Amino acid sequence: MAVYRYTRAVLLACLIAMGPNLVSANVWGDGYSIRRPLLCRQAKTDRPEPTQDRSQRIEHVVLPGDTLSGIAVRYGVTVAEVRNWNKLRSDRIYIDRKLIVFSRIPVRVVRELVYIVEPGDTLGGIAAQHKMTVKELSALNQIKNPDKIRPGMSLRVLVEGPEKASEARGKAQYGKLVHGEQLQPGPGYVIKRGDLAYGTNETITLLLKSIAHLHKDKKLKKIRKKIAPIVIGDISKKGGGPLPPHKSHQNGRDVDIGYYYMDGEKSELVRTTKENLDYELTWAFLWHLVESDAVDYMFVDKNVQRWLRDWAVKQKKASVDKIDSIFQYPTLSNPEALIQHEPGHNDHIHIRFRCPSQDRNCW
Ligand SMILES: [Zn+2]
Repeated sequence: MAVYRYTRAVLLACLIAMGPNLVSANVWGDGYSIRRPLLCRQAKTDRPEPTQDRSQRIEHVVLPGDTLSGIAVRYGVTVAEVRNWNKLRSDRIYIDRKLIVFSRIPVRVVRELVYIVEPGDTLGGIAAQHKMTVKELSALNQIKNPDKIRPGMSLRVLVEGPEKASEARGKAQYGKLVHGEQLQPGPGYVIKRGDLAYGTNETITLLLKSIAHLHKDKKLKKIRKKIAPIVIGDISKKGGGPLPPHKSHQNGRDVDIGYYYMDGEKSELVRTTKENLDYELTWAFLWHLVESDAVDYMFVDKNVQRWLRDWAVKQKKASVDKIDSIFQYPTLSNPEALIQHEPGHNDHIHIRFRCPSQDRNCW
């Protein structure tokens, strides 16, 4: 399925018009997969062309009612430019045709996140906080009565990503990070060091989505009324490059993150034992990442793997074969497993995200 990048307004219109069922729930990293893109007013965006410094390359699909002059205005360019970029002989354009436009108006990546309603919150306040209107927020969440929001409820919200697209270059062990995005404080997690919390846009999005996923899962919410924030350790420094004592963490794709614990909130990465580990939440978090297909591998201490594996089998979280296929331990039968053992990963999980598909110099 193609993955498109949409502007906030476009995505909102899509989500509202089409309903959540038509928008794939498994959207990762750099955009939203929309099954029937032609139903939306679309603006598929791409990375900026290297030669077009401050502009952004957009693939605009012509819709009924579109005119060349309207398209030019929308992206802050001239009709002549649009004609030139697309080798058009006249101003006539045809529905469904793709036009390349180097937009001078920044088209930002939009993410759907989860907001947990707090005591005293109003729909208006939440909408304003996310630069949405009450109407948009209500439509997105199918809320008919705005007075009916309650603390603890999860709402879908749309948040704009940074203006400049990031790029991971080189390897995680020898690379750099261009226009890295700094993870901002938010619900569900604690950042140990903000100056070491720079990642690619994809890394940041995936991380936020994986955490938010636990908070919006209805079954989990019944089991855990309150989910203590997870601790986020080092990602990369601004610009990437060597980050001792880590061997990797150089191009914005590595994240050190704590486990979930039964004994309350943490502000540091702490030692995991058979007793303090929150199996339910840690499993849900890891499983979500496994299913995302966005991860190269994860490091988890072998003992923690054994505990989690045995628990998951007992709880029938998946078939035994499937569970055994994701852990390297305890059987060591699967050297290709996504979850590998590496000494020193008792107090944190190391996640290596895949290279973003458009970062061609990342490997
Ligand atoms: Zn690490």
